[in-house]
Amino acid sequence: MKDLIAYCGLDCEACEARLATLRDDEALRQKVAALWSQLNGVEITPEMINCLGCRVEGVKFPYCESLCPIRQCALSRGVETCGDCGDWEGCKDLEAVIGSTPEARARLKGEA
Ligand code: SF4
Ligand code: SF4
Repeated sequence: MKDLIAYCGLDCEACEARLATLRDDEALRQKVAALWSQLNGVEITPEMINCLGCRVEGVKFPYCESLCPIRQCALSRGVETCGDCGDWEGCKDLEAVIGSTPEARARLKGEA
């Protein structure tokens, strides 16, 4: 699995938070912070928009670093991604992501 595919199958390479971090792009940080605040109903500041990816070394968005239950679970189980987890079919946390993002499911199944 490519390093920039998250445990849940999302594509970190296409994530605007990562792009803003790589380019040190303050305007993009502000755009992402405003959008994610609206989508999640919590205040996300531009300073939080610093992330290099879920499964690679380096800075992470605070939610992805320590709050995301999928990342914490996958780390504790030592799986490469959730696609390698024997319990993935019935996993409610994973379903919350792949249920609305079929591309993520396909990546975990090696179909994309
Ligand atoms: S881990 Fe970072 S790069 Fe990956 S989706 Fe989350 S915020 Fe974006
Ligand atoms: S139980 Fe398996 S599929 Fe669910 S979050 Fe943990 S590692 Fe991923």
